[in-house]
Amino acid sequence: MKLSIIIPAMNEEGNIDTIYNTIKNTFERDDYEIIFIDDGSVDKTFKVLESVQKKDKDHVRAIGFSRNFGKDAAIYAGLEHAKGEYTAIIDADMEQNPEYLLKMMDYLDKHPDCDQVAMTIKKRKAGSFIKRLGGKMFYKVINILSDVKFQKDASDFRMFKSTVKDAILSLPEKNRFSKGIFSWIGFNTKTMEYDVGKRKSGETKFNFKSSMKYALNGIVGFSVKPLRLATILGVITSLGGFIYLIYLIAKTLIQGVEVPGFATIVCLILFIGGVQLIAIGILGEYLARTFVETKNRPIYIVKKKLGFEEEIL
Ligand code: UDP
Ligand code: MG
Repeated sequence: MKLSIIIPAMNEEGNIDTIYNTIKNTFERDDYEIIFIDDGSVDKTFKVLESVQKKDKDHVRAIGFSRNFGKDAAIYAGLEHAKGEYTAIIDADMEQNPEYLLKMMDYLDKHPDCDQVAMTIKKRKAGSFIKRLGGKMFYKVINILSDVKFQKDASDFRMFKSTVKDAILSLPEKNRFSKGIFSWIGFNTKTMEYDVGKRKSGETKFNFKSSMKYALNGIVGFSVKPLRLATILGVITSLGGFIYLIYLIAKTLIQGVEVPGFATIVCLILFIGGVQLIAIGILGEYLARTFVETKNRPIYIVKKKLGFEEEIL
């Protein structure tokens, strides 16, 4: 098998047929498989998958999750089941044209040194101004904080050899942040640009709240610098407090007793209280993740499985 194409899909009933047909028409060769992962859809996504799989048993496989586990969990499930020499990840909504898969495959074939081709967004037509600004800020912040470099406008749209696939699978974390994992594992990566297409049907699953959660996951998952920041803030405020105390004592000794204004005290209490809460909050973020990881729960739970050696119907 030359290529495994992984397609995470959550509530994409209107897109499955289109992406399947486009892939089928794009590939002249026969040695590829498409692995759809239905990430807890509440619409007819799995029904559509069943009928597509029935029509083309040679190429189509489908995994249905018991609930929504997130796109990164869906990607992980796809990687675990992929058998191809190359593996590709592509969205179900046609924003990423499957024709680029040929380009990526061609590049990997012609460059034995290259392990991975990653697609970056050429022009961000899709998404609002806020989303674009948020994306920009996210890469600025995470590159300051994190030890691994994050490519701006990176996406999960990519193709890689099985060495890269094995490397990704060897990271067992539950809180999976694929963008971070892709850059953490290293390897020779070629970046290419792609034009974002128009989502064919349905709407994006990433609203402001889930994007913020996603960004926070990335930062906490790939950097311990916020913890250090808490320590530094603590040192600075206590130093400030100490200097202020010395100043007050000196002033009292030199100028005689003076009734201090309560405004100063209120300000200081609020300031120090705030700093303490921030520090505790940062600690909490890390502790929460440690808690989730130590429970060692599976990354996803499969409800249905079609087109594999062992099927779950
Ligand atoms: N997706 C998923 N699980 C989720 C959210 C999204 O499998 O919890 C899939 C979704 O069906 C799509 C891809 O991930 O195929 C990208 O999602 P979307 O198009 O909503 O994101 P955007 O392109 O707006 O960043
Ligand atoms: Mg999309």
